[in-house]
Amino acid sequence: KGDPRLKAISDAITVVPHFPKPGIMFQDITTLVSNHKVFKHTVEIFVDRYRDMDISVVAGVEARGFMFAPSIALGIGAKFIPLRKPGKLPGEVISEAYELEYGKDRLEMHVGAVKPGERALVIDDLVATGGTLSAAIRLLGELPNLCLRLHIVYDLLLQTYCGYCDSGWLERNGAEVVECACVIGLPELKERRLLNGKPLYVLVEPR
Ligand code: AMP
Repeated sequence: KGDPRLKAISDAITVVPHFPKPGIMFQDITTLVSNHKVFKHTVEIFVDRYRDMDISVVAGVEARGFMFAPSIALGIGAKFIPLRKPGKLPGEVISEAYELEYGKDRLEMHVGAVKPGERALVIDDLVATGGTLSAAIRLLGELPNLCLRLHIVYDLLLQTYCGYCDSGWLERNGAEVVECACVIGLPELKERRLLNGKPLYVLVEPR
């Protein structure tokens, strides 16, 4: 707060009323990323926050998370992995469903994209209900600590099934989600800035 870069970021977002449906105030970030100075500020704020947190994975949510996550990954020296809409990734995938206002959607990730115990950051442009980010957290698949240890000892050797966390090691990756971060967050989320028990960091409120 008080950082003049945040006002510039907020000012660079365009609100498009009734897009893509009546009643939605669409927060258009194309005007943010097309402004070099403001785009740079945005990436810098995230890079400064995460560079010393021992994060090796930056996961971006399709599609607008892809506009920020790779730059942040490069800035902190981590790998970028895409969390994609169904049917886009060519390899073997694991997937997580989530509720939309009308119906359901899914996010998919390549099996083996993250290693057990890797520290991960999840990036999207905007958080509204938090449903998308919650699915991303589940997908990155943090296992309970006890399971993580048991899996490391037994699963890699025996490739057994874990009754406690209900997953096979090869299906669930067990990365540790450190935080979720978005450029824009609805004020309703201010009171509960935790998603699936993970901290949520946002730069500005919707305009
Ligand atoms: P939610 O899962 O409800 O937190 O919704 C977040 C996802 O929907 C993000 O991937 C956003 O890009 C998109 N989204 C939701 N509401 C808006 C909005 N008003 N303007 C732009 N994108 C939105």
